[in-house]
Amino acid sequence: MIIILKPDADKEQTALLKGKLKALGFELHESRGINSFLWGIVGDTSIIDPDYLMANDIVKDVKRIQEPYKTANRKMHPEDTVIDIAGKKIGGGHFQVIAGPCSIETEEQIVKVAQDVEASGAGLLRGGAFKPRTSPYSFQGLQNDGLKLLLEAKAATKLPVVTEIMTPEHLELFNNVDVVQVGARNMQNFQLLKALGKCNKTVLLKRGLANTLEELVMSAEYIMAGGNESVILCERGIRTFETSMRNTLDISAIPMLRSMTHLPIVVDPSHAAGIRWMVEPLALAAIAAGADGLMIEVHNDPAAALCDGPQSMTPEGFDKLMVKIRDTVKFFGKTMD
Ligand code: PEP
Ligand code: MN
Repeated sequence: MIIILKPDADKEQTALLKGKLKALGFELHESRGINSFLWGIVGDTSIIDPDYLMANDIVKDVKRIQEPYKTANRKMHPEDTVIDIAGKKIGGGHFQVIAGPCSIETEEQIVKVAQDVEASGAGLLRGGAFKPRTSPYSFQGLQNDGLKLLLEAKAATKLPVVTEIMTPEHLELFNNVDVVQVGARNMQNFQLLKALGKCNKTVLLKRGLANTLEELVMSAEYIMAGGNESVILCERGIRTFETSMRNTLDISAIPMLRSMTHLPIVVDPSHAAGIRWMVEPLALAAIAAGADGLMIEVHNDPAAALCDGPQSMTPEGFDKLMVKIRDTVKFFGKTMD
């Protein structure tokens, strides 16, 4: 970290700040030029908030030269992380497809979709029980009853399950859930992230609607700092000025995240576009850009879906797409086991 001091910085205040930084265990390298006065700070600067320094009158600017995330940083862990979810591996050349309805609606629906997506080659089943809806009058999910139905579908197939958690108080209900999803709207719910850091479940962390990649990785860092390093990142489209789609899929996020972190990266083309026919091109593009997995919404009767029908694929459509996904994954040198 570099601290740029004002050329006329008060000597007493300068000595005070220097003392504080040294007391925190940092080494300071001073450089005084004709027009500049800088300190190079050596040590683990991820613990310093640049705003804390900027609040000093003598400080002109603060520049980070190291990322504020540590455990998630690829520099700390050059190899890709491979996560094993009940025998389904993701990351480091292992590719997984997570498929299922937006919301769990009935036993018949979730079990049928589970069996269909399993037959098509999906590795994990998704289904929302606690739904974050923009309107309080929209279907909120079957909640605890939905979780029970999801576990029935898990028992009826060999698929590990992924479902969204909205509050730390619900964690005890998620005992038999394999992957806990943090939805886009909760990406910076720090209490939730901290609680998930203390549990031993894989977390699928979705990018917020208007969050930077650094903010996404910092949210992963919250979970990892608590001791849980089993985190999968998910790009699900971001808000832009474009209105013809629900969101804009940020394909660039995939190679950029890959350079920033060693964590597996999943792409959700369903929420990205919000349009069924766009799921295929976006899914294939995501594989080409280096994604480690896809999350795709599939419903047995999209026209009757209680949530996200317009973006949900039919089991038949998904089956056809899986043929292309398998070929593309193979072409890019990854395996789907
Ligand atoms: C979902 O996966 O059902 C969901 C609500 O997604 P997101 O948080 O990305 O909107
Ligand atoms: Mn949905």
